[in-house]
Amino acid sequence: MNTVEILKFAIDLVAVLLLALGIKGLSKVRSAREANRLAAVAMGFAVIGVLVNSLGTTGIVAEAWIWIILGTLVGGSLGAMTAQRVPMTSMPETVALFNGCGGMSSLLVALGVAIFPAAAAGEAGGGLVEDISIVVSVFVGSITFTGSIVAMAKLQGWLSTPPWMQSRARHAVNIALAVMSLVAAIELGRHGDNASALWLLVIGSGLLGIGVTLPIGGADMPVVISLLNSYSGVAAAAAGFVVGSQLLIVAGAMVGAAGLILTQVMCDGMNRSLVSVLFGGALGASSASGGGGEYTNITSCSAEECALTLEAAERVVVVPGYGLAVAQAQHTLREVTRVLEAGGIEVTYAIHPVAGRMPGHMNVLLAEADVPYEQLKEMDVINPEFPATDVVLVLGANDVVNPQAKTDTTSPLYGMPVLDVQEARTVFVVKRGMSAGYSGIKNDLFELANTSMVFGDAKKVLGDLLVELKELGVGKKG
Ligand code: NAP
Repeated sequence: MNTVEILKFAIDLVAVLLLALGIKGLSKVRSAREANRLAAVAMGFAVIGVLVNSLGTTGIVAEAWIWIILGTLVGGSLGAMTAQRVPMTSMPETVALFNGCGGMSSLLVALGVAIFPAAAAGEAGGGLVEDISIVVSVFVGSITFTGSIVAMAKLQGWLSTPPWMQSRARHAVNIALAVMSLVAAIELGRHGDNASALWLLVIGSGLLGIGVTLPIGGADMPVVISLLNSYSGVAAAAAGFVVGSQLLIVAGAMVGAAGLILTQVMCDGMNRSLVSVLFGGALGASSASGGGGEYTNITSCSAEECALTLEAAERVVVVPGYGLAVAQAQHTLREVTRVLEAGGIEVTYAIHPVAGRMPGHMNVLLAEADVPYEQLKEMDVINPEFPATDVVLVLGANDVVNPQAKTDTTSPLYGMPVLDVQEARTVFVVKRGMSAGYSGIKNDLFELANTSMVFGDAKKVLGDLLVELKELGVGKKG
């Protein structure tokens, strides 16, 4: 090993360690922000490693450095700008776009080496390993790229599923595309310089990514995005073999494994199997636009009545849901809970694993409003505590508090773990009307005797509640 190689090895090692610490830290709300920064620093080290590595290569180093630094600046600025601007409710689309970029990068790296083998000579292992890595990188990278772009476009509302894509015919089309890609992959594995096989593989797997993602329904899309995230890791690891980068191999493997675990966690949280998500197509998930069945026995009340009950409570549990994120009411909620706490009322927040539209959605939302982490309670912890709770405030949540998931074997939600809010003394549900949640089904909770609906936009209702609580003198000393 010469000096450059030792330096490169040391930098890569630091990058891998920081990335591993970052991924580990993301599993806890408290450490997530710091962990994200660590992972970003790890990427910085990875770029420095590439710069150092180019010192050891022959050719014009200055030119390589200009391209690497330019690419880092442009990509970094675009990433930073996107992260600053994107609203939390659009995070799944953003993650899909970033996954697509990851898939595209791996695809381009593999294509570059396949088309210009001389330029990469000496970097990769060469021979069979390199050929297989190129095939895997092109195949997975292409699927990830097109699949992620379709997922993003569907979530943005730019693309909808054509009717024929929901019929069984799509399976035949996808099988044909898979066979076409497989034949091209085998041919490319045998003859690495076969350009026709290379482009057939790019096109076949790209179309397969579209064909598999296009029929998937909106409710299942975050699961698919998580799976595509895992694919982008696999593609990156394969690209690492192509260019002989241990860092890329390790980082890609970590992202691939983490994405796969997250996919499983989401499937468990929604009581769906991965197979049914991938091959079930567009299931009848409607967003908040009606279709929730007939309600006959609804009790509603005003913010004033709700405030009176809250004033008399000792223990309040807040259940945040997708509607809270839509209304961007987290800061107003925090003001309300500060008043309640100042009035000696114990407040906690019940966090369902798939509340909102992405894993950790509610945690991030509440963290934005400075809700203390220790007040956030996971479903398994909070469920036994509902019978001893005076008031539950359900804010823009629906499916995650639907008792049908436990009682009605015919319900599409049956088997999904839910928050047992109905066990509390009083439940207030804040939402704009009687529209269904993401599953598109009726919620029996709304008709129970201890439930009152408080109709309105979550931010408006919480604002009114704040005024009422202050008028009642809740939280005022003396
Ligand atoms: P939900 O079931 O989608 O219900 C959200 C409710 O919020 C709607 O019923 C809507 O009713 C109300 N709402 C919308 N805008 C509002 C506003 N401005 N103010 C007040 N209320 C508003 O939400 P959830 O209980 O959080 O459940 C999440 C669902 O998404 C689950 O079915 C889950 O499986 C699915 N999902 C989650 C993930 C994830 O990773 N978190 C991934 C995929 C799917 P109105 O229109 O009547 O106001």
